[in-house]
Order: sequence, then structure tokens, then C-alpha cells
Amino acid sequence: MATGKINVSVENIFPLIKKFLYSDHEIFLRELISNATDATLKLKHLTSIGEAKVEYGHPQIEVIIDKEAKKLHVIDQGIGMTEEEVKKYINEVAFSGAEEFLNKYDDDAKDSGIIGHFGLGFYSSFMVAERVEIITKSFKDEPAVHWSCDGSPEFDIKKAEKKERGTEIILHIAEDSTEFLEESKIGELLRKYNKFMPIPIKFGTKTETLPKPEGAKEDDPAPTKEVDNIINNPNPAWTKQPTDLEEADYKSFYRELYPMQFEEPLFHIHLNVDYPFHLTGILYFPKLTNDLNIQKDRIQLYQNQVFVTDNVEGIVPEFLTMLRGVIDSPDIPLNVSRSYLQADGAVKKIASYITRKVADKLNSLFKNDRQDFEKKWNDIKIVIEYGMLSEDKFFEKADKFALYPTVDGNYYTFDELKDKIKDNQTDKDDKMVILYTSDKEAQHSYIEAAKEKGYEVLLMDSPIIGHLMQKLETSKEKISFARVDADHLDNLIKKEDTQISKLSDEEKERLKGDLEKVFGEKSNYTVQLEAMDSNASPFIITEPEFMRRMKEMQQTGGGGMFGMGNMPEMYNLIVNTNHELVSEILHTKTAKKKTRLINQSLDLAKLSKGLLKGKDLTAFIKRSYEMVK
Ligand code: ADP
Repeated sequence: MATGKINVSVENIFPLIKKFLYSDHEIFLRELISNATDATLKLKHLTSIGEAKVEYGHPQIEVIIDKEAKKLHVIDQGIGMTEEEVKKYINEVAFSGAEEFLNKYDDDAKDSGIIGHFGLGFYSSFMVAERVEIITKSFKDEPAVHWSCDGSPEFDIKKAEKKERGTEIILHIAEDSTEFLEESKIGELLRKYNKFMPIPIKFGTKTETLPKPEGAKEDDPAPTKEVDNIINNPNPAWTKQPTDLEEADYKSFYRELYPMQFEEPLFHIHLNVDYPFHLTGILYFPKLTNDLNIQKDRIQLYQNQVFVTDNVEGIVPEFLTMLRGVIDSPDIPLNVSRSYLQADGAVKKIASYITRKVADKLNSLFKNDRQDFEKKWNDIKIVIEYGMLSEDKFFEKADKFALYPTVDGNYYTFDELKDKIKDNQTDKDDKMVILYTSDKEAQHSYIEAAKEKGYEVLLMDSPIIGHLMQKLETSKEKISFARVDADHLDNLIKKEDTQISKLSDEEKERLKGDLEKVFGEKSNYTVQLEAMDSNASPFIITEPEFMRRMKEMQQTGGGGMFGMGNMPEMYNLIVNTNHELVSEILHTKTAKKKTRLINQSLDLAKLSKGLLKGKDLTAFIKRSYEMVK
């Protein structure tokens, strides 16, 4: 037996580390399992190249809780260590690694929660243990070693009896960490961090029901057998080649990732790249709703099959954080803050690779089965629209397959739409006007009016659509969007036949005066007289497209809309001078009756635009009942 003193400048790292990593104690298990995995994979490599002349077999990693003795064991069948190696790797490498870690990370790192991502390694066991033992036997023909240390720089080392190759780490769990002696806690951690690690991890046993033997009676109990309880799937789908996987494999992997998720994913994207960085993974498009926030943080980040985090902000472009799945890359630096991460060259390349893959996949879905793509559009549009808004590269690609559905259920790409409307929906300035509705029910009468005139009306109801329209208007030539109830409709010059007004100029002036008198000087309505078909509505309220969109964008935020103050309410009252009711109003003799007709008409126009509310609505209804009595 020997004792020794490790040569580090910090007298006792143990209490420091313990305090420092206060919130991340649980990562010790991930670190120990990672070391055990590395040791096993190293042996695999050495046997495969003939350098280790031992049988590799089917090694496992085992985790055992000894609650009585307050010990936690992690046992592997990997390469093990000789005495010399323990001295070198544990006393020097592990301790100096811990010291370096402490020097490098300050309180900022702690606050930003990045420490848990950094491999502190073997030494992290001292966060939960008051004493740690290592019993290890190398694959080389050398005696086993028993190392023991209480976290201070002093350690014991002696020969051990261990016969089988591999390493056993024994943690004597400290008083304040007894939660790590609970089966449920350790099981939870193993499933969180090690669910897809490449070496099978055994944690206790479980009872398996066997088929009944032939000739067994109806109520004979089925025989059972105790089998190893293996926590992980060592060969998850993303580590395989896409060509070796069927659609069903992707679906079952999705269920493995999200056992509580009953809805099937719409489609998947298999990521697989070796150069200039390593990245594998599978992303899934789930059915998405219009709520942008609740669906984030579902993508899991792994490094060589070790779970790191489910916060992929800064690594995956923002618009794709609504997807689900797994990304595995050893090239993502995790020991840095988020803002640094976003500036990191490798990470930028990764983000743009992912963006490109997603765009290519969408494009091929669109090309190969357009009908199916149209069916899925409503469930995926939010990601695509968000992507088009936020990433120019994505915009360029998505512009070919982004769809614009009409109220009648047709789906056009932008180019198709342009072709469709170019002859019929141009305004005075030769701009193409794309009509849309954000709410088929509320804007029903306007949609009908537009359709009557032969115009196409798109159904655009995403929360960010206002921003996207603005982007399209600035990046495309000579187009503008107008909601069906906006003022643009009447600027369209391609109306089949321009109507001649039945009213003389003098009558028009009078009518305008009559109307303005009723709703007063300070009204937010501007009266516009138009000669329309006599069957069209007598009064139509429209809202300037620009004003309304500004208001909407203020509500959804972003787009530099902050600090603009509140937009005033402004409306146009379009009066159809060819409608009989309008003539009647003009020619009504008694002022009282005239006012009543105007008020009732204006209320009807408001009602059809959804503007009649509260006490005005109540009064209107009461008045209408009086009239039909
Ligand atoms: P890292 O794993 O980052 O190198 P650690 O502090 O976790 O740092 O471990 C230090 C070294 O100790 C490892 O590089 C490895 O050589 C050795 N080691 C740790 N655990 C084991 C193990 N279970 N089997 C064999 N060697 C191990």
C-alpha cells in the first residue's frame, strides 16, 4: 500500500467544485458512464486491430445501488488501468483537468448554465461522494489496483484482488446527496443522459413473461424469468444509414424519443455529414399549431450518443426549433456561452447545413407528391413562413414551394399565382394586387364581393403573415397585398365594365354633406362615392391596408414595429351611388327620417365588417326589432 499527494496548486478542489457546480450535481453519472463507454470502445478498437489479444465479447456497463452501505457502483468491462495508468490518468490527468476547469470558469459561466455541458470528467463524482474508490484491472497482464481518495489531494493506492478485466468505480454517497441512492432517481438520470449510448447499460433486473408451455391449463400462471434490465438502445436510428431504414423505423424511433406523443410526425429529415464537420441526426416535422412558443425545446442535442441538452438555441436556426428529433455532433463547442456559440464558425456552418437540408427535403416532397404536400401545408406552413422571414437563404429556396391557398381550396406557388391573376388584378400603377382574407367567416361578404368580380382571394391566417407579405412586397417587383376589406379593391382597374353614376355632381355633393353631418366632423370615416353595380352593397366599409397591417404587426411584435405608438382607427365608407337605397336617402324630405336611414345603413355596414359592438350593437338590434314589428 502506498499513499501519495497529488501535485495541484489548489489545496483542496473538492469543496470548491462541489459549491461551484451546485445546480449540476447530477452530471457526475453521465461523466462516469461516458468514461466507462470510452474504456469499452477503446478495448473494442484495440481488439479489432489486434493490439489487445483478449476476447471482446459482449461487454456491458452495470450500475448498482447499495442503499444500505450508501454506495453507488459503476462497473465496466473495458480496458481497465494498470497502477501506472491510474497514477497518470487519475492522479494527474483527472485532477489537473478539474483544476483547469476551475481556473477557466467563473461565475458568469455558472449563471449561464453552461457548466453542465462541459465534461468535468471523473472528478465530478466528488460532487456527490465523500470518498471514491477505483478498483481496476487492465486488459494487460498486470495485477489489479485499488485507488481510494476523499477528494483531498491525498490518495491511497494498493493491489487488489479483482480478476475480471475492467473498472469498478465506487462512490460513497455523501450525506447531502442521498437522493442518488434512490433507484427512481438513478433510473431517471440514466434514461435522460444515456438512453442512446453505444454500450448496453444494465440497471437491475426485470421480470419477463414467457409463453405458456404446451398443454398448460387456462388459469395456470404464465412462467416468468428475471432478465437484465437494459436502460438504453445502443443503436438508435440516427446512427444508421438512411438506406438501411424504412419509414416504420423512423416512426418507431419517434415514439422512442417522445413516448408521450400520440400524434405521428408528418415527415422526417435524416442528417448525415462528415465534412467539413461531423453531424448526424433525424429531424421530424410534427403537426404544428399557430402558437410559436409552446412547441420549442423538443430537439435533443447529443455528442457521440451522450445526451447534452434539449436547448438547441444558437445551434439550430430559430425557425427550426419548432421541429423535433435528435442532432448528434462532436463538433459543437458546448463550453462556451450562447452568444459566443452563435458567432462560432463551425456552428454557423452547421446551422446553414441544417437549413439547406430542410429546404431540400421540403422541395422534394413538393416535387414528388404535390397533393400530399398540399394536404400537409396547413400543419407545416408556420415553420416555412417563419423561415422565409428570418433566413434569406431559406427564402430563396422556399419561394419555389411555399404555397398560397385560396378560399376555394386551390394551392398556388407564388409564380403560379402571379400567372393566374396578372390579367385581372392590376391597379393604376400597374401593380399586381393580391387579395387575401385572414378570416373566412368574418370577412365573408367582402370575399363574396371580390369573387363576384372574378378575383382570386387567398386565405392567409398565420400570425406572422403580415411580416411575410411585407417581405414579399419588398423582394418581388410590383406586387402588393390587400385584404379583401381593404381600400385597394376599388383601385383595381380591370373591373369588367366601369359603371356610370346615376347621380349628378351636384347630387353627389349633397349626399356627401348629408352623410358627414350624421357622423359628425371628427369621425374616423372618410366618405368615398363610387358608381358600382346596382346590386352591389350600398355601403361598404374598408380599412387602409397599410394602417391595418401596421396595427397587426404591432401586436405580433418584431419587424421594427416597436415604439410607433398606437395606430389610429381609420376607415373608408364606400357609398355605391347606383344603389336604390342611396338615392332614397338623398331624396328623403324629413331630416329625422334621413338621419335614421343613414344610421341604420351605417350600422349594417359596420356589422358586416365586424365593427358593430357593445352598446351600439344592442341599440341596433333593439331598433331593428322595432322596425320589423
Ligand atoms: P476525460 O475522460 O475527459 O479524459 P476524466 O477525468 O474523466 O477525463 O478521466 C481521466 C482519464 O482517466 C481518462 O482519460 C481515462 O484515461 C481514465 N479513465 C477514467 N475512467 C476510466 C475507466 N472507467 N476505465 C479506464 N480508464 C478510465
